[in-house]
Amino acid sequence: MQSRYRRFSLIGDLGGIQSAVGEMRGLGYPKQPRLDKSCRARSGGPVFQEEWFEKTLREEIAAHPENTMEFPFYGERVFEEPLVGFVRGDDPIFQRFKRIIGPHHFTPAEIMAWQAGNNGVPAPAPEDISVVSVVMPVTPRTRRENAMQTDWPSERWAQTRLHGEIFSQTMVREVVAFLMDRGVLAVSPDVTPLFRKKRYPRVGWASPWSHRHVAYAAGLGTFGMQDFLITERGCAHRLASFVVNLRLQPNRQRPEDIHAYCLEYQGIPCLQCARRCPVGAIDAVTAHDKERCYQKVARSIRYCNRHYHIFIYSCGLCSTGVPCESGIPAPLRKQAGRGNPTSRAT
Ligand code: SF4
Ligand code: SF4
Repeated sequence: MQSRYRRFSLIGDLGGIQSAVGEMRGLGYPKQPRLDKSCRARSGGPVFQEEWFEKTLREEIAAHPENTMEFPFYGERVFEEPLVGFVRGDDPIFQRFKRIIGPHHFTPAEIMAWQAGNNGVPAPAPEDISVVSVVMPVTPRTRRENAMQTDWPSERWAQTRLHGEIFSQTMVREVVAFLMDRGVLAVSPDVTPLFRKKRYPRVGWASPWSHRHVAYAAGLGTFGMQDFLITERGCAHRLASFVVNLRLQPNRQRPEDIHAYCLEYQGIPCLQCARRCPVGAIDAVTAHDKERCYQKVARSIRYCNRHYHIFIYSCGLCSTGVPCESGIPAPLRKQAGRGNPTSRAT
């Protein structure tokens, strides 16, 4: 972590440049971990059940040295305690995503078949696969700071976008490597060469693996007018997810209504997110204009460089200073519930 501002941040923030290139082009990631096939018959060691994932991810976020900001906030945590959810690989929602997002969006079985091929083992059946989804809430201090902004992201928010993304990829890669080392096939789709963002005719800018849609599938939240996922910890967060060759039990009930936690969609006038957007990329009719948003966010690289000395694009104004920032808005809270799912949106 930096102990002072960079002098030439446009070319000096190598971590930021590498992260941006990886995110857009799927380049520059470390090699995939190898599956230890000899481990499959071994006994002893951790039992990889739902509790293990919840505890491990909580501990990682509490203690990982990379979950920290750099100068001038050196030592501050980037994320708070996470929410963790699970969705089964044969959940019909993944076929629905192919229809809604597009055929380019991987099913868990497709991405797992790629990892199985890398390791010379048969591809697991969809029912033997699960996806682990993680919501990492932004700290209250960062949220408050960004809520004061009117045009560009605050410095803590920009650092959260940069270091939070690097941290979440590192953390997931470490968990995936740990599992592979113990004979459990696993993959984090967004740190593979297959992960490339592109403009698609139907959905605009999109990637072949959407952490947001996976988190919805796991019952962790629903979509707001600004397209962020509104969770019981709000919509100011980063998301991560990875696929494992294990049968994990979903731990949350997924609302059938994909907008169940957004006031405006539920007929309670709000549109605070639209008022927060400096370029009018959200309105009551079209909701979120991704292209207009993208143009604004892309311009923030220059601002973040000049003022914060890091190479990153970010904004998030519409997820702070709004009723869904840190939780499900009060009138809609009763609809959210933890527990075994009894119904499924398909
Ligand atoms: S600010 Fe209001 S309208 Fe916008 S996503 Fe949140 S609840 Fe929905
Ligand atoms: S993230 Fe996009 S939609 Fe939200 S405030 Fe920024 S430009 Fe507007």
